[in-house]
Amino acid sequence: MEFRDTAVEGAFRASVRAFLDAELPAEVAARPGEWGLFNAGGRATREFRLWMQEWTAKLNEHGWGAPAWPKEHGGGGLSVKEQFILSEEFAWRRAPRPGGIGHGWAGPTIMVYGTEAQKAAYLPRIISGEHVWCQLFSEPGAGSDLASLQTRAVRDGDDYVVNGQKIWTSGAHGAHMGILLARTNPDAPKHRGVSYFLLDMKTPGVTVRPLVNMLDSHEFNEVYLEDVRVPASHLLGEENRGWYLATTTLDFERSGIATSVAHQQIVRDLAAFARTATGRASLARNSRLRTELAERAIEAQVESLVCYRIISMQERGEIPNKESSIAKLYSSELDVRLATTGMHLAGLHGQLNDAGTDASLGGRIPRFYMHSTTSPIGGGTSEIQRNIIATRGLGLPRA
Ligand SMILES: Cc1cc2nc3c(=O)[nH]c(=O)nc-3n(C[C@H](O)[C@H](O)[C@H](O)COP(=O)(O)OP(=O)(O)OC[C@H]3O[C@@H](n4cnc5c(N)ncnc54)[C@H](O)[C@@H]3O)c2cc1C
Repeated sequence: MEFRDTAVEGAFRASVRAFLDAELPAEVAARPGEWGLFNAGGRATREFRLWMQEWTAKLNEHGWGAPAWPKEHGGGGLSVKEQFILSEEFAWRRAPRPGGIGHGWAGPTIMVYGTEAQKAAYLPRIISGEHVWCQLFSEPGAGSDLASLQTRAVRDGDDYVVNGQKIWTSGAHGAHMGILLARTNPDAPKHRGVSYFLLDMKTPGVTVRPLVNMLDSHEFNEVYLEDVRVPASHLLGEENRGWYLATTTLDFERSGIATSVAHQQIVRDLAAFARTATGRASLARNSRLRTELAERAIEAQVESLVCYRIISMQERGEIPNKESSIAKLYSSELDVRLATTGMHLAGLHGQLNDAGTDASLGGRIPRFYMHSTTSPIGGGTSEIQRNIIATRGLGLPRA
């Protein structure tokens, strides 16, 4: 692949940089307590949320709030490479972007399978930030084997009546809408009896219960559905075809470059910490730690090459398959290794995670460490990614 920008791409990159120079407040870019690898979860302040609304409106003026979406739906209609450049530049400046389930999953799936009424009702509200979405897929007995899900939806007049339980639903406590998978035909083979619904989270019978993680942060939830009446007009696509909607690979830029940039920034932050840590002067001279951090620096560079490979395939109109699994696996496992290296550098201070104490790097190291444990699980576990690489990538038979 050609790593250098063309003249047109270079001009686009310059315009993104100029925008960020002019518009991004320094205090946002330098937000303490974040390494940009995860959203602020329950920790986002009211001020930040209000600022984020204004920021979203500003980005939308350029089509950069949803750069991958077609212009007709309020997006930017950017090329794959332009999307990549935008992600890369925003990540280097630690500039927040609207996103999440609405932009990444619900919106694109509605665009492809929705009726005109569904598109008109939901897409503009995702773009404006008015509607936040969550994803109601996983259940206590159905995660990796999602097709085994047991939540039932039974047609009753103009409605479906839904009963069941979902789990690990990120952001359900702040969501207006959810994409919901429920079984509509229990007699069909498991992949063929599932339907895809658009659920208003305020519907009677929907109960959201918090699951607080070991960071003491409320990011995901259990969601109970008891006799929830979902209008039939909220079915997306055809009944019993929901599995195929849920697994649709949407042709949008998903190189993972933002995470790769964040990893490179963390390597730099850790190196700066090792060089300047007071009272622990030997840190930067400790040969084991030097070697370990150097390994992470190499791996962060390798990760960026994996991202470039995906983007080059997308530019040629190819759909990454095993390459996406390689990228997800490599990135999430690097998350864990990098966080572990951070803990080795922090030493005993790594037990302090509150900003304001003498916790290393304002407590970011232990928070990153605790959060990194989720990376190899969410979005498809490492074992599942390895299975995909073995079967689709290497042509090995299923275990
Ligand atoms: C931070 C985070 C956020 C999440 N947010 C959401 C969300 O918003 N909405 C949502 O619906 N879900 C969400 N999830 C759930 C996530 O999709 C599931 O946790 C994931 O799919 C794994 O399912 P499980 O937890 O049931 O584990 P299981 O599938 O029970 O797996 C348990 C272990 O068995 C291994 N395993 C399972 N099957 C195989 C196999 N065939 N071969 C080899 N090993 C196997 C797994 O790799 C894992 O180590 C989130 C999870 C996390 C960690």
